[in-house]
Amino acid sequence: MDLQEKLAILADAAKYDASCASSGAKRRDSRGGTGVGSAGGAGICHSYAPDGRCISLLKVLLTNRCLYDCHYCINRRSSNVRRAAFTPAEVVRLTLDFYKRNYIEGLFLSSGIIRSADHTMEQLVAVARTLREVHDFRGYLHLKTIPEASPELIEEAARHADRISLNLELPKQESLSRFAPEKNLGRTKQAMGRIRLKLDEANDRKRSGDRRLRHATGQSTQVIVGADESTDADFLARSEELYGSYRLRRVYYSAFSPIPEPSAILPAKPAPLLREHRLYQADWLMRFYGFHRREILTPELPNLDLRLDPKLAWALRNRHRFPLDLRTATREDLLRVPGLGPRNVERLLSIRRFAPIRLADLARLRISLPKVRPFLITADHRPPATELDSDRLLARFAPKPEQLELFC
Ligand code: SF4
Repeated sequence: MDLQEKLAILADAAKYDASCASSGAKRRDSRGGTGVGSAGGAGICHSYAPDGRCISLLKVLLTNRCLYDCHYCINRRSSNVRRAAFTPAEVVRLTLDFYKRNYIEGLFLSSGIIRSADHTMEQLVAVARTLREVHDFRGYLHLKTIPEASPELIEEAARHADRISLNLELPKQESLSRFAPEKNLGRTKQAMGRIRLKLDEANDRKRSGDRRLRHATGQSTQVIVGADESTDADFLARSEELYGSYRLRRVYYSAFSPIPEPSAILPAKPAPLLREHRLYQADWLMRFYGFHRREILTPELPNLDLRLDPKLAWALRNRHRFPLDLRTATREDLLRVPGLGPRNVERLLSIRRFAPIRLADLARLRISLPKVRPFLITADHRPPATELDSDRLLARFAPKPEQLELFC
C-alpha cells in the first residue's frame, strides 16, 4: 500500500476525534534561523469537515488496527474496515513535507492499540521525539496517549507535545463496561493524575528559571454524547471532577453520530448537535462564570433544555434574583445576567465608576438589549415588576414551535 493510500485511510479514521483545538498552546517559533515552523498562540485548528468537526492540522492515526473493541469506534477490532499502518518515519516525513508546503501548522496524532499499550505508545513517542529532537520541529504537536501505557512513556510524550489527551469517551464506568469493555475509568483517571503531577513539576521548574525544559501545557479529553444513556448531569459531573481534580484544559463533547459498520447496541440515530452545543455552553458557565454544576442541572432536571441557553434557563428559574441594579450589582451577579459575558461585565464595572449607565451605553458595547432588559436596572430603565413574573418571558426567548415534517 503506498503512502497516499495509507494517508486516505488513516486521516479518514482520525476524523471522529473532536479534541484537536490548540487554543492555549504555548507559542514556539523558528525566528532566529533555527528549527522548522512555528505554532500559533491561538487556535490553529482552522478548517472544518462538512459535518462541522475540526480537521485541520495533519490529523492522522498511526494505525487503525486495534486490539480493543469499543462499540462506538469504527476502528474496533470487530469492525470490517480497511486497515493500514504508518511507520513512525512515514508520519515524520509527511508532517515535515506538509509543513514546508504550508499545508499544516502541526500534527494531531492518535492510534489504535497494536500489540500492547506500551508498544503503541513507544511508536507515538518515536514520532514526537524524532520531530522535536532530530528535526527541531516547532510546530504544534498534540498526542493522544493511552492510559494503560507505562507512566515513563506518557511522561516522555508530555515532554515533546504541546497538548496531550486521554479520551474518557463515556462518563460512567457502567457505560464503559458495556460499550468499551477493555477501558476503565479508574485507570484513565490515574493516568490523568500522573500527568497532572508531571505538568505541575514542569511548571514549578519553569518558574524557578529552568528554561531548558519543554513540556506540554495541558491535557484534555473527549466524551461522546448520546451513545449511551448518560444524562447531561452525568457529563457535567464528570467534567467538574476533571477540571477540579486534574485541572484539564478542556473537555470536548462530541455528539454521537452513527458510524459505518455500527455495533448493534448503538443508537441508530445521531445525537442532536444542539445537545453538544448546550453542553459546551454549560461547561463554560462552570469554568468562566462561577456556576456550580448543581445550579445548572439538578436530580429533578438531569438534562439541559435544548430550547434555551443554560444561562438563560437558569435566570428564568431564578427570577427572584432579578432585576439587578447596574449601579450596585457585584461582578459575580452580573456574570449571571443573560447576555453579559466576562469582558462586558468588566467594562460595565469600570464605566459605572465614572457615570451612570444607560441602555444606549449597553447598545454601544454591543450587548443584546432584548436579552438583558428584563434582568437589569439602568439609569433610564427599570423593567416592570410583571415582566419577570410573566410566562411570556419564557415564550419570548424560546424558539418558535416549528411544523414537524412527516416521514413516510
Ligand atoms: S481503543 Fe477503542 S476507541 Fe481507541 S481505536 Fe481502539 S477501538 Fe477505537
